[in-house]
Amino acid sequence: MNSVKAYAAMKPKDPLKPFVVERRNPGPHDVVIDIQYCGVCHSDVHQARDEWGNGNFPMVPGHEIVGKVIKIGSAVSRYKVGDMVGVGCFVDSCRECNPCKQGIEQYCDKGMNLTYNGVEKDGETPTFGGYSTQIVVDENYVLKMPANIPAEKAAPLLCAGITTYSPLRHWKIKAGDKVGIVGLGGLGHMAVKLAAAMDAEVTVLSTSDRKKEDALSFGAKHFINTSDGKVFADRANYFDFILNTAAGNTDLNQYLTLLKLDGTMVLVGVPEHPATLNAFPLIFKRRCLAGSLIGGIKETQEMLDFCGKHGISADIELIPIEKINEAYERMIKGDVRYRFVIDINSLK
Ligand code: NAP
Ligand code: ZN
Ligand code: ZN
Repeated sequence: MNSVKAYAAMKPKDPLKPFVVERRNPGPHDVVIDIQYCGVCHSDVHQARDEWGNGNFPMVPGHEIVGKVIKIGSAVSRYKVGDMVGVGCFVDSCRECNPCKQGIEQYCDKGMNLTYNGVEKDGETPTFGGYSTQIVVDENYVLKMPANIPAEKAAPLLCAGITTYSPLRHWKIKAGDKVGIVGLGGLGHMAVKLAAAMDAEVTVLSTSDRKKEDALSFGAKHFINTSDGKVFADRANYFDFILNTAAGNTDLNQYLTLLKLDGTMVLVGVPEHPATLNAFPLIFKRRCLAGSLIGGIKETQEMLDFCGKHGISADIELIPIEKINEAYERMIKGDVRYRFVIDINSLK
């Protein structure tokens, strides 16, 4: 075992503070990664505060991990020492069920092994995430980073990028489709860039006018401030597809009325409190409401390659680890443009 420096929430809602985690000695298929950057996802905030009620503490969050391979196991063939690699939201899965065989490991019948707030393959050893200096991961769950994107700006692709790319692909978004993105935060701003690169006509639905210029610069054609309730009547039956990334509760019934006949709204945001759903907005116009969870390893690699090809990366604010608690407070207030990324050098 190898002791490495980390930052942890010792119990729900506690500020994060220095902590030490044990990383396993690399097995034949493992790579040891010296972490350089780790993005800060709103899911880190939800879980460190136990808003979803499934928290294991102490908790070391972080699932947008980028770093350099410093050691490999004897049977590793995909990576070599010195490669820049990434790790997203899970570090293993059963590998035998139908979803795993299809490469959609996030839907593993036995439950994927989450990068943090989960357990290793042994079913009991807790996993600890990327707010730490090193991590040891099986090569099959490690991603190759695009060479032309700075590592710190690529880190958020590993959750915010794939979580928005996957539904855009699954629902076959194509040129000219009218796509609405609800919430312009970490996920939302990636969604705008990705959907625009797929030549969709993108509209951002945001709770104020503050992010309008940014939204247009990311590739949105239209911007709607939803605090003016009139927009729901003005844009009724307009969108083919809506991706709802809001971290807080939105009135789903209102947003559904924005979809045209057979349109779909996909939820990726996971607010703390459940929503109320009326049948009427669904049955009139045969609308669909669906959800989507991150993405599989194969699709994550496809998304990284797509971002490399199109020069897509996150807009970030780089912070030292000491600023993590302040960053959480600012995220809750919607005050982030558009992803905090921790410079893990500040922990070394
Ligand atoms: P974030 O950076 O904090 O952005 C969330 C944005 O949602 C805010 O910037 C704000 O945008 C909007 N928002 C917040 N509260 C709202 C409310 N009450 N009504 C309407 N809009 C609201 O968060 P994130 O990292 O992008 O994560 C977004 C959500 O996705 C979180 O719940 C997270 O846990 C979840 N998530 C899910 C998956 C998955 O696999 N499904 C993966 C990662 C994250 P405006 O300022 O534009 O209004
Ligand atoms: Zn995330
Ligand atoms: Zn499985």
